[in-house]
Amino acid sequence: MDSAWREIGAGVLVRRYAALDQTLGLVIGGERCLVVDTGRDEVHGAELAAAVSTVTPLPWTAMITHSHWDHFFGTASFLPCAVWAHERCRDVIADHAEEMRDRGLRYYEHSGDATSAAALRTARAVLPPNVFTDRVVIDLGGRSVTLTHLGRGHTDNDVVVEVAKEAVVFAGDLVEQGAPPVIGTDAFPAAWPGTLDRLLGMDPEVVVPGHGEPVDAAFVRTQRDELEVVADLVRAVAVGELSEAEAVRRSPYPDDATLPALRQAQAIQPGQPTTP
Ligand SMILES: [Zn+2]
Repeated sequence: MDSAWREIGAGVLVRRYAALDQTLGLVIGGERCLVVDTGRDEVHGAELAAAVSTVTPLPWTAMITHSHWDHFFGTASFLPCAVWAHERCRDVIADHAEEMRDRGLRYYEHSGDATSAAALRTARAVLPPNVFTDRVVIDLGGRSVTLTHLGRGHTDNDVVVEVAKEAVVFAGDLVEQGAPPVIGTDAFPAAWPGTLDRLLGMDPEVVVPGHGEPVDAAFVRTQRDELEVVADLVRAVAVGELSEAEAVRRSPYPDDATLPALRQAQAIQPGQPTTP
């Protein structure tokens, strides 16, 4: 594969992949380790599991940052183990796994990657057995990590992993480096900046995005402000103050990153909650 582990804090590692520019994580404790996201299919999951075994013999617990196909279709390769996710992440996998799979297949159709498409087609959709609503602390033996749902943003079930002593936060796709954040039909642009405010309130020194290079708090603050601009444009289009074309022109992101958010404007306005 095209990847290698990189240690960004004591016992905190990231693994980057060329495919999807995806970034997966590992936190090693005294008795267990935590795998951050299980990958995009079972072949990818098995590669990641084998890679974890090269750096630690400890048993793993897995977690899923949110309910998008590239973050959970590798879960079967890690079983048996605890798999943590937000309760709505499990609901989405239970009710919409095939829709999520289709999104991935459409992506591969576009990119012409038949091998990955075949792997995704046969990947099992595993329901995470361990779910929570707001927050859960996971004891890894001599070190604990906190999984927190900070509110809606990229989806309604984004979870961040805080490794407090190392000031590292794994942000899932709430933060994206190297490309604009994905504001899809299941995103909540109006709530997203507030969710990132709460992430910044954790005072992280390193924030690991779901795709791209680890970043610092200043990067997250900038992306938060850009997302607020997008949220304002969505609002303005929804109430008829602004044309779609004008909103696209004013957006900090390219057309193909902005249009999906604008086109679901009616669906998310008004009354969208801005807190969890
Ligand atoms: Zn995502």
